[in-house]
Amino acid sequence: MLNISQVLSQYNTKIKKISRQPDLESQLILAFVLKKPRSYILAHTDSELSKQQLSITTKLFARRLSGEPLAYLTGEQEFGELSFKVNKYTLIPRWETELMVEQALSLAHNSTNTTILDIGTGSGCIAITLAKKLPQVTVIASDKSARALAVAKINATRHEVKITWLTGNLLQSLIKKINLLPKNTKQLITTANLPYVPSAYLKNLKSKDKIGLKFEPLSALNGGSDGLKYYRELSKQIKHLKNLRPKLIITVLMEIQPGQVGAMQKIFEHNFIIKDLAKKDRLVIANF
Ligand code: GLN
Repeated sequence: MLNISQVLSQYNTKIKKISRQPDLESQLILAFVLKKPRSYILAHTDSELSKQQLSITTKLFARRLSGEPLAYLTGEQEFGELSFKVNKYTLIPRWETELMVEQALSLAHNSTNTTILDIGTGSGCIAITLAKKLPQVTVIASDKSARALAVAKINATRHEVKITWLTGNLLQSLIKKINLLPKNTKQLITTANLPYVPSAYLKNLKSKDKIGLKFEPLSALNGGSDGLKYYRELSKQIKHLKNLRPKLIITVLMEIQPGQVGAMQKIFEHNFIIKDLAKKDRLVIANF
């Protein structure tokens, strides 16, 4: 029989090699297996694991040590104040994306004249967080992956928000079904955390990169040769949407990685850039 403290020390050295937060992650694995909060793990280090708990723990540590992110082991990831179900069909929400939510909140009017459109919604974390904070606003979310949308729908039910779901690439489905956009919408805020990682970077990933990108859906990360393929396509589709509804004020918020600013400024004319908490260029906001 092993107790909590013995299990933690057994994996201590190995997990340090692959994790940025080894202690936290080990405690969270045990908390998940024991179905207890992390505080319990810290307070009950002498408590022994049953045979079954030990066998589950061994399997989970093996998966984590192979590089698989913790969120895929537990099926959960916190984003802002909420927790979201995730699986291998959805990107794992990142803390830096909270910047997009913050900015969207400061730009949106909590009124029935505002509509939020979240494209490439994945787990739905952006759309759902905004829907919770802006109860007057219509929220539409789209993704080309039906499997990701299935997860997003579960998350919306969990957090009790109503969202209109569309399957399709970027704005395509909305453009086809433009009547889904309420007639009284004056302000359209579009949030887009599209795949923006250059494909060459993804090809050269080390077998155990510390983020675990290898385990995430390539279709949610791969943005083509310079990473900006989808943002280019989006800029064309927005012009099309603007032609359909010329009076609509459209603001688009797009997450990028530092180094893509110059190229984004060429694609989007009226834009400004916002840095994340690590002082890296992270968000491009463009108006149409
Ligand atoms: N932020 C992610 C990463 O670099 C990429 C997410 C994306 O492509 N939208 O790990």
